Amino acid sequence: MAISGCVINAACVSELDVIILGAGAAGLYCAGQAGQRGLRVALLEKADAPGKKILISGGGRCNFTNLGSGPGNYLSANPHFAKSALARYTPADFIALVEKHGIAWHEKTLGQLFCDGSAKQIVAMLLAECPADTVKLSCEVEVEAVARSLAQQQAADGEGANSLLTCQVSGATDDIEARALARAVVQSSLVKAAIHGRDPNWGRIAGALGNAQIADDVVLEMVGVPPDAARTRGGRRVDLDPSRVRIAIAGTEVFAGLPVPFDTGAVSASMATDEVLIRVDVGQGTGTGEAFGCDLSEEYVIENSEYST
Ligand SMILES: Cc1cc2nc3c(=O)[nH]c(=O)nc-3n(C[C@H](O)[C@H](O)[C@H](O)COP(=O)(O)OP(=O)(O)OC[C@H]3O[C@@H](n4cnc5c(N)ncnc54)[C@H](O)[C@@H]3O)c2cc1C
Repeated sequence: MAISGCVINAACVSELDVIILGAGAAGLYCAGQAGQRGLRVALLEKADAPGKKILISGGGRCNFTNLGSGPGNYLSANPHFAKSALARYTPADFIALVEKHGIAWHEKTLGQLFCDGSAKQIVAMLLAECPADTVKLSCEVEVEAVARSLAQQQAADGEGANSLLTCQVSGATDDIEARALARAVVQSSLVKAAIHGRDPNWGRIAGALGNAQIADDVVLEMVGVPPDAARTRGGRRVDLDPSRVRIAIAGTEVFAGLPVPFDTGAVSASMATDEVLIRVDVGQGTGTGEAFGCDLSEEYVIENSEYST
């Protein structure tokens, strides 16, 4: 099995049946089960190797099962779960798996079974149970990084796009307002057209910030805002004090409460890249947010005006 960088991208995500987050004991076992049933699995692990906790278990020898384990040994809100789970997969099933892989073991006190050798053998066994043709393990991939990467790829793949447009906002009252401000910038047709024209037009960015609206109450509830607060805040304008706003385009500050003198030609040249970063600080609090979009090109207009849906 290849252990490589990220395997997930917008092009291949549709070819997967299952994405498992975390290659610990549970993730490795699930990946093996799903892969053996012919499902195409991406197993994503943020650490640099799978099964790290298994390696330290049982003092390095992994107490892999207990002969006497039963439903009474488990605490659960639903005690019936342990009954059905243990009836379907017994300590004898796991011992059979260990023996299939030629791992020698011994019993210590009270039915505890340990590897004679090392817990590394259990990790190797779980990896070997993952069919190479159906399970792809990727380490050093954090779930957040995967989600962010997919969002970036989708934006950069917009019709006729030449540049990814990233807007990072800090200093907002909270993260909800920061995200609203960032979205307003990347969604503005005037800002997107300016990015296409490599025009460091801070006025369009300031205008977009002034039009920012907090997401609808339904969206707020989905990200954990209590229903009452979501109803009060959903769809409202974000209040800003222009004298506290700072804007930087492609690394150059162009506005700091007032226009800042800058070399237009140099900033324009630095915008001629695959990704243009707009940084905004609104000087009100500690909220941060980020949004992705792309430039608005002639090709976008042509492609989207030539067909009807
Ligand atoms: C010192 C020690 C000794 C132990 N000894 C034993 C023993 O002998 N026998 C026994 O049965 N149990 C033992 N345990 C308990 C056992 O190790 C754990 O119950 C078991 O490993 C948990 O497996 P898991 O898959 O549920 O979670 P974990 O092993 O914690 O797996 C979760 C995985 O998800 C990854 N992850 C987390 N967040 C992200 C993210 N955002 N993106 C991508 N990946 C992410 C983590 O890096 C991790 O690899 C021991 C535990 C410890 C700490």
